[in-house]
Amino acid sequence: MSRTYGGRRKSRRPKKTGESKTVDEIVRELRKNISPASNYRERSLSIHGLICAKCGREFNNNNRHLLTVHHKDGNHRNNPPDGSNWENLCVYCHEDEHSRELLGDYLSGKEGDGTSP
Ligand SMILES: [Zn+2]
Ligand SMILES: [Zn+2]
Repeated sequence: MSRTYGGRRKSRRPKKTGESKTVDEIVRELRKNISPASNYRERSLSIHGLICAKCGREFNNNNRHLLTVHHKDGNHRNNPPDGSNWENLCVYCHEDEHSRELLGDYLSGKEGDGTSP
């Protein structure tokens, strides 16, 4: 005699969270997240001062537009409020910084593409 009787019942129900967001609410939340980030430049300038972190050139309110904010990790969405990912660079140093990055990518990245005999 063998008992193959299992008294299991399946009582699974799909969970309902009960909260349903409207599109308007979602958009509002997205905007909430974006707005402080778009203001990071002013923030970085006030945290780090009107000076280029690389060449040390100082700026004032007349030429502050020449001072830009560089993201140290290259991620423009990474904007910690304490400014730890920002670096104030003048446009020349900033360009230099990025051209070097691109060149580095180019040199270390793709190679041997279609050049093999
Ligand atoms: Zn500079
Ligand atoms: Zn940059």
